[in-house]
Amino acid sequence: MLDEENIVDPSHPRYNSLMIRKKIADAGVKGMLADSAMIAHGRGEAYDYLLGERTIPSAMIATKEAVARLVNAERPVISLNGNAIALAGADFLTLASQLGCPVEINIFYRTPERMGSLIGHLKMLNSKLELDVEILGGIPDERIPGLEGPRGACQSNGIFNSDTILVPLEDGDRCEALVAMGKEVLVIDLNPLSRSSRKCTVGIVDEVTRVTKNMIQLIPEKPNVSDFDNSKNLQAALDHIIDNLSDKFN
Ligand code: ATP
Ligand code: MG
Repeated sequence: MLDEENIVDPSHPRYNSLMIRKKIADAGVKGMLADSAMIAHGRGEAYDYLLGERTIPSAMIATKEAVARLVNAERPVISLNGNAIALAGADFLTLASQLGCPVEINIFYRTPERMGSLIGHLKMLNSKLELDVEILGGIPDERIPGLEGPRGACQSNGIFNSDTILVPLEDGDRCEALVAMGKEVLVIDLNPLSRSSRKCTVGIVDEVTRVTKNMIQLIPEKPNVSDFDNSKNLQAALDHIIDNLSDKFN
């Protein structure tokens, strides 16, 4: 048990944020994360602070659009890295089960130990939730073109042959490589300025645990695909941040 568990008081005004931070810290202790995971999380936290730590209207529009594209996809897949599994592993499995699609673990710094720990964690959640979601990533047999080293490894029955891919907290490089493969790439990233947000098909500027909850609610509604304009929607997120900031001292 980490110290935070005893320190975080539910009446703290930023309790949710502190509990989310604790999930990352706990997953780190279990060997699920690379050392840089906390840095990526911290960058996300900074943007969430600027957004007001809530789902803004443009994020809800993007979430609905992403759900529409996942529901209408022929071969959807959910790509998961360590932070996504640590923060929302159970909800991603629920989502995959609703969509009838696999999840594939695709991590930036791949070691057998980390892969084993992440697969084990998802298997534990699968049985706890009484789900039977296919968990891929353990035996890669294909490569994402243009990505050198272990981070390009993927599976033919998952990411490689998917037409639509949900990628939370993705590195910009890999996002670009997936778009270049002709896939619809749906990104969850709190930073509207990241390369992932800018290069993807649909960028959801929101915190991953809020997004998964919203998606689970939206799936039964089966929303329709629209002619979504990603740049315009990212601009709306930036405008929201600027308005939020300029209100602060007035
Ligand atoms: P890019 O490679 O796309 O330019 P980056 O190098 O700044 O982005 P990475 O570390 O590659 O960032 O990817 C992590 C991204 O995930 C960051 O943009 C960060 O804002 C985002 N992020 C971190 N934690 C969360 C979270 N809990 N929910 C949503 N997004 C998050
Ligand atoms: Mg990056």
